[in-house]
Order: sequence, then structure tokens, then C-alpha cells
Amino acid sequence: VSLSSKQLKSLTQLIPDGEVQSAPHQLVAYSYDNSRLQAMPDTVVIPHNREEIIQLVKWCGVNKIPLISRGHGTGTTGATVPVNGGVVLSMEKMNRILEISPQNRFMVVEPGVTNQQVQDAAAEHGFFWPPDPTSAAVCTIGGNLACNASGPRGVKYGSPRENVLGLEAVNGRGEPFKTGCYTTKGVVGYDLTRLLIGSEGTLAVITQATLKLQPLPQTRQTLRVLYNSIQSAAKAVSRIMAQPVIPYSLEFMDDKAIQMISDYSQLNLPDTARALLLIEVDGTYSTIADSVEAIIDSAQTEGCIDVFRANSTEEIEQLWKTRKSLSPALRKVAPKKINEDIVVPVSEIPLFLQKVAEIEVQHGVTIVNFGHAGNGNLHVNLLVDPDDSTQMKAAHLALAAIFKLTLELRGTLSGEHGIGRVKREYVSQEIDAVAMRMMHDIKHVLDPYHILNPGKSLPDDTTG
Ligand SMILES: Cc1cc2nc3c(=O)[nH]c(=O)nc-3n(C[C@H](O)[C@H](O)[C@H](O)COP(=O)(O)OP(=O)(O)OC[C@H]3O[C@@H](n4cnc5c(N)ncnc54)[C@H](O)[C@@H]3O)c2cc1C
Repeated sequence: VSLSSKQLKSLTQLIPDGEVQSAPHQLVAYSYDNSRLQAMPDTVVIPHNREEIIQLVKWCGVNKIPLISRGHGTGTTGATVPVNGGVVLSMEKMNRILEISPQNRFMVVEPGVTNQQVQDAAAEHGFFWPPDPTSAAVCTIGGNLACNASGPRGVKYGSPRENVLGLEAVNGRGEPFKTGCYTTKGVVGYDLTRLLIGSEGTLAVITQATLKLQPLPQTRQTLRVLYNSIQSAAKAVSRIMAQPVIPYSLEFMDDKAIQMISDYSQLNLPDTARALLLIEVDGTYSTIADSVEAIIDSAQTEGCIDVFRANSTEEIEQLWKTRKSLSPALRKVAPKKINEDIVVPVSEIPLFLQKVAEIEVQHGVTIVNFGHAGNGNLHVNLLVDPDDSTQMKAAHLALAAIFKLTLELRGTLSGEHGIGRVKREYVSQEIDAVAMRMMHDIKHVLDPYHILNPGKSLPDDTTG
């Protein structure tokens, strides 16, 4: 796609209050995300309101121009990269919090507000919004919803799909519509809210969201539990999830992850530590002690060598710093690592990790595993150098084996990062042909001109 000067002029006239940017130095800022992919858009439009978006989508439909919605471009899968050129629609100026209703436990926001701004505003009323990607300070709610992004709290409180009451959006015809309702119960019509969440900007542009709020817990306790083997830690995760107290977060790190952060921070762990669980428990002052005891009881499986309870804010922060320093530490060692975020049922984590260790040896690729174990969501990091073709060949074989294993164990290929551009070729291994056909039909109904984020999420429809 390349826009003619006539088209550009008509676009500028169409959106008088918006910003239309076409200078190369402006375009480059919108040409990449947190993946290694990059492609230049033809133009960038920064709207201020829904009406401008409606006009823009209609214009793109008439002119058959791709339209790529964009939050802050922190996604890891190339989902915002304009691989076919076209218009990038940046939500950066639609960033207002429109309403907070503590008694109804919801908050109405525009899509360009950051996750952190939502957390801060909710906290003033004693609430929080559960999805908590590590990128909270810099990612937008629109991006969170479009990827169904979450983080450690997902184990207890769920992902955006469980934490959004309704949406306002514009479909590929440029028609505005509402989904869901303002109440926590509602069963009128099909659930278009959950359909749009996770659709990576391929079905509609989200222009407003009603977020479901949760009360901030009265208190929390943070634990670090060490194991002398990966298998012991993995089995402990199953035991923890099989008892009634749901942890606020339940994070896992394998031996290589521990080694990696030990190189960057003062961990002072015993040499025998081969795996680590970082566990948080929330509750009221009167219940927390019992809940923590129940969790410790199930965490102390064979192979558990240490349980450390953080007693001060500094100790809690230090433990989380350890967990959050992992991604940057890995990036230092392997700047272009392949980071997957598969999910398997919690009871299959021991077998999954055992088989991944075999795949690692078989293909000669270093693999570091950590992640949101309470959900079975593991970040599997293949430390490779993309400039080394032999290594990349081995990595792709290892990756294919990991995805096959994931599906054999009744898992799913992505827990929170989504498919974007990078994982499309694997999607049909998980989704059967009939479901895929229905998904393509749905795409066609919402986006008949196929302008919304083409080339992302689903593989192309080759059935004609
Ligand atoms: C340091 C770091 C840590 C991270 N940690 C996590 C983590 O813990 N958990 C996690 O899940 N992710 C994580 N991520 C990935 C990323 O931050 C999330 O996917 C986030 O939700 C993306 O938000 P964004 O505003 O940057 O969206 P973008 O990257 O701009 O867009 C992502 C997708 O959303 C679509 N989109 C954006 N806005 C709209 C809209 N209004 N309507 C329709 N579609 C839209 C885009 O088209 C694209 O498909 C991390 C990233 C970084 C850099």
C-alpha cells in the first residue's frame, strides 16, 4: 500500500481535529513494537474521539487501506507492526478516565489510558483492576484488552476476559456498537465483549471499556520457597492449586533463571537451590495467617529446602525485583532470545518441564523457563543468536517440539502475549478446521473489507 498525495489530503480534511503524521521521522516511531519486526506505515492518525475513528475506518474501507490500532507498542508479537503498510491508528490521546463507580465496582476508560493510571485511580477508592502486566507503567488498556494480557495476579483474579463488563467499539464498516453491560450479571445476546478481547485489533477498534474493579486486599504476605529440583517445585505448584486457598500470585523460576539473576543481583541462595517459587497470599488481617499456613503446608513437598517469609516492604520489593529483573537479565545474555508463553494444565507442569529438558539436549539449544505457574503459564525462553543460522534451525525444531508437546498435554500456545505476526503458522495446530472456518466467518462479518490489522492473529483464509 502507498497512499497518494490526494488520499493523504482527503484524510487530513476528514479528521480536522486529529493529527495525521506522514513525515518519515514520525512514521518510524510507529513502525515497530517489542518484537524484532519492523515495517513502515504510510501514515499515522492520532484521533481525539470516537467520531474521528468512525470517519477514519469508513475512509479506510472505501480506499481498502489497512488500519492498525496501536496502544503504546509494547506487545511482543509484532501485532502492531504494519506489515502491509497502511494507517496506524494511535490511541495515545484518547487516554481519559471517564467514570469511577465504587458502589458498582466499575471504571469507564478510554483505550489509551495506561494500566498504571487505571491502578492509581482505582486505588484512590480502595480498588484495583486485576490484569497486571509487568509493563503496566507503559502499556495501554486497549492493548491489554486486545491481547488479553495479564500477569501474576491472573491465577486468582483472571485476565481481561474475566475483568471487563462491556465495551464500545467501531467495526470494520465504521459502525459504532456497544457490547456487554454495566452489571456483573447479564445474559442478553451473544458475548461480544469476550470475542473482542484477545482479537488483537482484527475485529474492531475498541474506543471505550467498562472495567470490573476488585477491592484492594487488606493485607498480603510474600514467600520465597526453594527446591533442590525443578520437579519438586513443579509438583508443589500442583499441590498448592489442589487446596482451597488460591494464591494472589504463584511464580516459578528454574535453575538457569536463578543462575541468571544471581549474576545480576545479590540473591545469596544456597548452592543446592535448583528451582524457586515466589508466592503471594492476600486476605484480611483475621484470615491471612491461616491462608499462609495452608499454602506453606502444600508448598513443603519433598525437595523443599527453604521457606522465606518477607517481613518488610523492603524485603517484599527485593523479592519482586528479583522476579522482574529476569526478563532484562535474559535480554542482556541473549538480546534476541525467542520468548514463548505457552500454558499447560498445572498438573502437567512436571512432565512438560521434564520433556523440555530432553528437547533442550536433543536440539542443543539453551532453554530458560519461568513464569506464572499458578496458571500453568510458562515463559519458555530459547537463548539463541538469530545471526547464527545453525542455531536458528535448531531453535525452530525445538520450538515445534515444544508446541507439539504443549498441545499433547491439553495446553494452549499463548497465555497472554497473543499470536500477532510471529505465531500465526502454528495456530491451525491448536484450532480445528471447523472452528477456524467459523472464526474466519466472524472476521468477515465484523470486517468485511479486511482492513483491520490484516496478517495478524489468524492464519489467512485459504478456503476462498
Ligand atoms: C517490559 C515488558 C513487560 C511485559 N510484561 C507483560 C506481562 O507481564 N504480561 C503480558 O501479558 N504482557 C506483557 N508485555 C507485553 C505487552 O506489554 C502487553 O501485551 C500489553 O497489553 C500491550 O499493550 P500496548 O498498549 O503496548 O499495546 P500494543 O502493543 O500497541 O498493541 C497490542 C495489540 O493490541 C491492539 N490494540 C491496541 N489498542 C487497541 C484498540 N484500542 N482497539 C483494538 N485493538 C487495539 C493492537 O492492534 C495489537 O494487536 C510486556 C512487554 C514489555 C515491553
